[in-house]
Amino acid sequence: MKRLSILILLLSLPAALFSDYVDIADVLKETGSSLEYDTLLESGMLASGRTRVSFTVNAPWIIVNDGVKLSTPGIRREKGRLLIPEETAAKIIGVFRGDESPGRVFRVGAIVIDPGHGGRDSGASYTHTVNGKKVRISEKDVVLKAGFMLYELLKKRFPDKVVLMTRTRDVTLSLEERPEIANSISLGEDEAIIYISLHANASLSGTARGFEVWYLTATYKRNLLSTASVDSEYHDILPIMNSMQDEEFTRESILLARSIMQQLETAVGKETENRGLKEGEWLVVRKAKMPSILIELGFLSNRDEALKLASDEYLQKLSFAIYNGVSSFIEKFEQSNAFTE
Ligand SMILES: [Zn+2]
Repeated sequence: MKRLSILILLLSLPAALFSDYVDIADVLKETGSSLEYDTLLESGMLASGRTRVSFTVNAPWIIVNDGVKLSTPGIRREKGRLLIPEETAAKIIGVFRGDESPGRVFRVGAIVIDPGHGGRDSGASYTHTVNGKKVRISEKDVVLKAGFMLYELLKKRFPDKVVLMTRTRDVTLSLEERPEIANSISLGEDEAIIYISLHANASLSGTARGFEVWYLTATYKRNLLSTASVDSEYHDILPIMNSMQDEEFTRESILLARSIMQQLETAVGKETENRGLKEGEWLVVRKAKMPSILIELGFLSNRDEALKLASDEYLQKLSFAIYNGVSSFIEKFEQSNAFTE
């Protein structure tokens, strides 16, 4: 009986009585900062001079000066008190002292090039007559060739990044296998991957022509973080973490798509149609847990455009434009520290 009541007493002790949490009042005193706290949003900000540290209850991070996110154990709220894990408190104190460098450096660690179709799946495939001879032009071959060209350019420009093709031969890959290849690349915590899918178009109308760049619709929610990849104590805020990550990927996908679009317009805008940026729910893009876009290089159903797409010269122009678009996105991404500065 006695033992049981001791056990109950132990279980009901507030976390504050254990040494690994400190009351926020102590941190405010230590840093000389003041607290603004919103009980509805359960988020707050410590401020002193020009330094600010924001937090949300239970979220595994703090945000320094509206920009840099530091991973830290979550702050708890119990019986009206805000309790800060010691590790988090030390980081906050460090930020105010100026000795905790918030300097996370974000970079693009890998670029995945995904030539569509392959093997049994030819994609769009048309036979056109050239000088009385029939020529078969298939999407799987055109995009593989363009993929190699893009690979060579990116590898030379970014020797320190992983540049990977989902296929380098005429093989069949399922739509699930493609993003899996990309999702399985292991990266540093502050490294991003970008995913570029290459396709060619077809239309019932023989006159349709031009290039398109697709990104995922902003309303589609990816499942980026699963309960398996996140500590159990954060499971209740998983939807919030998911949508924050998702918005970031969508924003970056649009910027990447725009950057490539501009370069394609400059390179071939005069000789074919710029069909613009498009939003879609492409499966292959949807499953990639990273900023990802899909490029339609041109129409194989259009005889003139198909013949151009079958020529190295035109394909080189397109690849070089895509390369320029990707490079300029990466430069901006890295110079602005993943658009946080
Ligand atoms: Zn395709």
